[in-house]
Amino acid sequence: MRVASLAGRLQLLHGDYALDVAVASGGRFGPDPLSAYDEWAEFTQWMSTVEFEESSATRFLAADLDSPVGRPSQIFAIGLNYAEHAAESRMTLPEHPVVFTKFASSLAGADVEVVLSGERVDWEAELVVVIGKAGRNISAEQAWDHVAGLAVGQDLSDRAVQSRGNPAQFSLGKSFEKYAPVGPVTPLSQLPAGSDRDALRITSVLVDTDGTSRTLQDGSTADLIFSISEIIHRLSATVEFRPGDLIFTGTPSGVGLGRDPQEFLRSGHVLTTEIEGLGSITQRML
Ligand code: ZN
Repeated sequence: MRVASLAGRLQLLHGDYALDVAVASGGRFGPDPLSAYDEWAEFTQWMSTVEFEESSATRFLAADLDSPVGRPSQIFAIGLNYAEHAAESRMTLPEHPVVFTKFASSLAGADVEVVLSGERVDWEAELVVVIGKAGRNISAEQAWDHVAGLAVGQDLSDRAVQSRGNPAQFSLGKSFEKYAPVGPVTPLSQLPAGSDRDALRITSVLVDTDGTSRTLQDGSTADLIFSISEIIHRLSATVEFRPGDLIFTGTPSGVGLGRDPQEFLRSGHVLTTEIEGLGSITQRML
């Protein structure tokens, strides 16, 4: 089972079916998608008792999903967090996590159309961490206790905007409308048996206007420079994490900026990002 939002209402997903949480729980949880994360332990306890019958659920389309956490209080994103990606970006390995934000108004659901903001818009497949327990000064050992679940995300990036000015700054170029699509949240308890939460295969595939398909990125989250627990530990030395906050954890190599010649997204391109055990998300470029 996964956790998502349809028309701003918290849902449980199973296959092609969605169950409205506020209705199914008699008002105990939801309908606000963020409310699940405020009481994550209680929510997952309730979720484990839900009998998912198709008679009480409705079929949904991926295109109807919106941001799985609504509008969270904070979105963190980590740059240059895979060694090969740092190399293709011609940057040295960071000593400290490179942190920026994707502003909340850029969040979108799992299957959306994206209006390209310019000629140099790039793809970045990313694992997204969803916080389920507030905290500051969280040790690396305790970090996973603060995680509700994991999701597939794209850190769409307008490289022209991202690199303009001196010093350049990341956040605006990564915050155009729908530049932060995120798929349904897989609670940690729902990860497939045998999968390693610190070593998930992550890929992005582009279908061109002529129908040809290419794998752009194919990596593993085992190669993160700063692991999920290390990111939570280091960032929480400064900020308070709150339920529903998102962390985009960085992208593996294979982005358009690092190619020779460079390549960028064009109208008609269809981009699909997949992470082992978490599903996939798709953007159609306009
Ligand atoms: Zn990124």
